[in-house]
Amino acid sequence: MKIGIFGGSFDPVHNGHVALAEHFYEQLRLDKIIVIPALVAPHKTQLRTADAADRLNMCRLAFADERFEISDIEILRGGKSYTVDTLSYLHEKYPDSELYLIIGADMLLYFDKWFRWRDIADMAYICAAVRNDNPDEYELLRKYSFSALADIKERIILSGAKPFEVSSTGIREKIRSGESVEQLVPPEVAKYIKDGGLYADDCP
Ligand code: ATP
Repeated sequence: MKIGIFGGSFDPVHNGHVALAEHFYEQLRLDKIIVIPALVAPHKTQLRTADAADRLNMCRLAFADERFEISDIEILRGGKSYTVDTLSYLHEKYPDSELYLIIGADMLLYFDKWFRWRDIADMAYICAAVRNDNPDEYELLRKYSFSALADIKERIILSGAKPFEVSSTGIREKIRSGESVEQLVPPEVAKYIKDGGLYADDCP
């Protein structure tokens, strides 16, 4: 099997996440993608964040069909999870599968600072996509793959596919200031956020 692994804070999950996952699902003909919300949303901001249960529920709504599996492994593990540990676990669980770690451009551009990044690349292909429409971003990814990440360049798969330009931070800011985010998140997620009053207040 070819399995995509897609981790993040997903605070909240948005259309950029969905577009990224769907793109690699199609392009790489993956059999499934495992979506793994992180336990800790590491945001040092005044903006309110959502707890793990809500972020997990929103992922279930956004990635609702059989292409996707939502995993609570990092949430249940507790504490800080390193990608290398999550991948080792999945590598053991699926010994005959190829793993494809899906990340955005911002993540690739400091991939060599990740804990045991070479081990990560041994266990999974690193699939990175641009996050904005600027052609320079793709060029930057390419250059980085041939310089800082040269040791693992055979394991990197880049995509310059048209991105959906949005970030979770931007969405939290909009909700905080009372703007609509209905064009930026799947409709079920918009409803979940609204019904639960998520992100609407300042941090206490
Ligand atoms: P925040 O604004 O809170 O930092 P985020 O929008 O970057 O959040 P994360 O949950 O941190 O969302 O992202 C999970 C993964 O999805 C990361 O690898 C990130 O690079 C990628 N990603 C997020 N948004 C996009 C997007 N619009 N296009 C492509 N990749 C994205």
